[in-house]
Amino acid sequence: MKDAKFRRCHGCDLVVKVATVDKKQNAHCPRCNTQLYRGNRISLNSDLAIAIAALLLFIPSHFFPLVTIQLFGVMIPATLPSGTITLMGEGFPMLGLLILFCSSIVPFLVCGSVVIAHIALRLKLFKLFRNSISTIQHLKGWMMLDVFLVSLAIACFKIQDHADIFIGSGLYGLILLQFVTSLLLTHVSPKRYWRVWQRKHQQHIEAPISKPEHSVHCGHCHFTQQKGSHCIRCSRPIHARKPNSIQKTWSYLITAAIFIIPANILSISILLTNGKRLEDTIFSGVAGLIRTDMYGIAIIIFVASIVVPVAKILGLAYLLLCVQFKRSIFHRQRMSIYVAVKWIGKWSVMDLFVISIMMTLIDRGQILDFTPGLGAVAFGLVVVFTMLAAESFDSRLIWDNYERTEKS
Ligand SMILES: [Zn+2]
Ligand SMILES: [Zn+2]
Repeated sequence: MKDAKFRRCHGCDLVVKVATVDKKQNAHCPRCNTQLYRGNRISLNSDLAIAIAALLLFIPSHFFPLVTIQLFGVMIPATLPSGTITLMGEGFPMLGLLILFCSSIVPFLVCGSVVIAHIALRLKLFKLFRNSISTIQHLKGWMMLDVFLVSLAIACFKIQDHADIFIGSGLYGLILLQFVTSLLLTHVSPKRYWRVWQRKHQQHIEAPISKPEHSVHCGHCHFTQQKGSHCIRCSRPIHARKPNSIQKTWSYLITAAIFIIPANILSISILLTNGKRLEDTIFSGVAGLIRTDMYGIAIIIFVASIVVPVAKILGLAYLLLCVQFKRSIFHRQRMSIYVAVKWIGKWSVMDLFVISIMMTLIDRGQILDFTPGLGAVAFGLVVVFTMLAAESFDSRLIWDNYERTEKS
């Protein structure tokens, strides 16, 4: 394959010489440790097989009951779609949609996009190929089946005092689906798909770059090339840095910081039992768990709903301030903060999932009723906006003054 003799790291924009790496080895950036090349332990066709297997697993995991709950002598089966539809119908359409999006729609779209990318690769359908690869790249961070499964376990643990719970066949399907989709995510590499596309259909494209300083990296297909307005491989506009990254990240971050106040003050869940109304905020929920000796769950919920969102907002604000005040030390540590913020992001949604699952399981009218409070809506917005903030931040900004300090 013809490739540039050097390429730019998409994490820190360092110009790295391309060495021949063993097919099974990974290559990392020497400066920021971002993975530049992933060894291909399995063939591209295996990706396709895994994606098809995942798509088939959507049937049992979504249409068979996950759990059946026995409440006041009545057996109530709950499937994943029925739960989210209940939420939407009870006046929380955004919450229901968020859960359906992260636990069903995104995994389905990502698996479907892998299949479509293979078809487009065979039939040389450029736009279809480009769109399906973009879908995989943009949506994979929103796949939250794992969070959903942990939340389901916590919800069942919390309501076992009120009712008997029986595991349904859908749950086995969902666990298998989680296993297969995470296998797919660790193997599927958009960069690799683009390399194969280039080898098959765009052999004329070379990257004759005279000097490394004149090169630029395409953020869509990760191709290093001569500076220009559009990518010669994927035809998308090229930007040396994400446009308006700092402003966008600040605005998402400030929005999240505003919503975190009602998320913690307003009640996140309301339980009606025998005419009594018990309202819980995130904090009183954790305190309640400690009172009932559920220390493990209390720690998980405390970390996921209080520590993680606050740490994310502070961490990103620190990174932005360092970029703006051109701080010239601790680049590596700051990069680790960014990677951590991106990685832990999705786990903060857990309490929201737990409440929603509990609501769909024990929403039984007058005797026992469970609904999310307005705090839950605010908390959902905090999660979404911190994730958007992390995504709009360009990690290359962290390293911009590294070169300057090195040169001087
Ligand atoms: Zn790097
Ligand atoms: Zn490109």
